[in-house]
Amino acid sequence: MKILVMGPPGAGKGSQSAKIVENYKMPSISTGQMFREAYASNDPVGIEAMKFIEQGNLVSDEITNELVKHRLLKHDTEKSFILDGYPRTVTQAIALDKMLGEMGTKLDAVINILSSNDVLFERMEARRVCKECGASYHLVFKKPRKNGVCDECGGELYQRADDTLESVKRRLSIYETKTKPLLDYYEKQGILYNVNGMQPFNNVYADIELVLRDL
Ligand code: AMP
Repeated sequence: MKILVMGPPGAGKGSQSAKIVENYKMPSISTGQMFREAYASNDPVGIEAMKFIEQGNLVSDEITNELVKHRLLKHDTEKSFILDGYPRTVTQAIALDKMLGEMGTKLDAVINILSSNDVLFERMEARRVCKECGASYHLVFKKPRKNGVCDECGGELYQRADDTLESVKRRLSIYETKTKPLLDYYEKQGILYNVNGMQPFNNVYADIELVLRDL
């Protein structure tokens, strides 16, 4: 099963992907998470990428495609994987199709989590992320058991630099212009499945499960 989870920033791509990974034991490829990890370990790619991320801009297609190419070449992706947050531009989608074609495979499904801008703003304001394992929390809807501490690994929770109001606005507008056209791209391939993201977390996941079971 090779799938891609899409949606505007704050729609819950990361949390839903984590749940799919937990249930189906498949490797997850999250470019946002890979950039944050590279930055935390002082990797030059991460430091370069963070200049764009902090402003709410996209990292260049070249850097991002190269990062994913390296990751896809690892053997654990042969049977299944889940992409979260990549591709985000049509150029990246074409590059991904080429990479997968060269590996003799293709995407089975694209799950698109739909949400309204009001819900997205509200979610990103209250989002907290674990510095150690990347687990995501919400100060109202998915509170950690202990304030500021990750339930999974005990790591410190922080607010992402790109979850500020200005940056969120920019990310949403970039989503509209650069990422949304991908929906058309995958619709034409007949592999697009829309899921309503404006429901409680478990209901969104249940709808995703229905799609996955059919595959
Ligand atoms: P995310 O964790 O998916 O919300 O990604 C956080 C940030 O990382 C994004 O706002 C972008 O700045 C950058 N990023 C992640 N994935 C990509 C991508 N596929 N293309 C370009 N930039 C990306």
